[in-house]
Amino acid sequence: CGIIGYIGELHAADGGGETTDEETPGSVGEIVHRGLKNLEYRGYDSAGVALVGPESGLTLAKRSGEVDALSVPDVPDATLGVGHTRWSTHGPPTDANAHPHTDCVGDVAVVHNGIVENYEALRAELADHEFTSDTDTEVIPHLIEEELAADSGGEEGGEGADLLAAVRRVEGRLEGSYGICAVREGDDRIVVARRGSPLVLGRGEDASFVASDVTAFLEHTRDVTYLEDGDVAALSPDGVEVYADGDAVDRETETVTWEAD
Ligand code: GLU
Repeated sequence: CGIIGYIGELHAADGGGETTDEETPGSVGEIVHRGLKNLEYRGYDSAGVALVGPESGLTLAKRSGEVDALSVPDVPDATLGVGHTRWSTHGPPTDANAHPHTDCVGDVAVVHNGIVENYEALRAELADHEFTSDTDTEVIPHLIEEELAADSGGEEGGEGADLLAAVRRVEGRLEGSYGICAVREGDDRIVVARRGSPLVLGRGEDASFVASDVTAFLEHTRDVTYLEDGDVAALSPDGVEVYADGDAVDRETETVTWEAD
């Protein structure tokens, strides 16, 4: 239902001893949590976040119920995070079915809006993977895991594996509609893909955002780029790279002039 992602320099734990000033918009977890609050008006039954930091790795929190009831963990070194409000289509609104969903290795986390129509066929192909939810979504992190393993010569989580390349290949195997954000321990990017479900990127100063709805991050930036169907993009603090059919493409950046309520 609702997606928010944030990656920013401001929060990099550089150990430089610099103190944060009054302007600091908060920790990654706080920014993502507030983004989820901004998306609440659309309705949802569960909420969750994934935070990634250089030392802490991947930290997840998710549950059924209100965004306010979700306790977002304090991860001081987190440099990126994604959050989701779920409106169940496959599987009841339980804690286990809340997003993010992970792979077997536990280093990839995915949030997803929409429906993976061919999830049963994909689950059958992933027969040796252990599933922990009833969702259609959970095939996505497991497919990414397979692609990453293939990239690294069969060695799980190996060095040669690339999250962007993996998501590009997985996207070609999904039928249905999706807006996806994928994060991986040890990777300082958020990789996103869309088809039939909206995703908009936000360009801040030393920070990038992604959301299903611009109101999620409008308090931080008004410079936005709407993704088109079939686009896959990688977000870094200093910008975004967008690909269509495997080629880098330029997508227009526009300025939002209207005010959110
Ligand atoms: N189909 C997915 C699920 O049931 C995502 C639903 C949504 O868009 O929130 O978990």
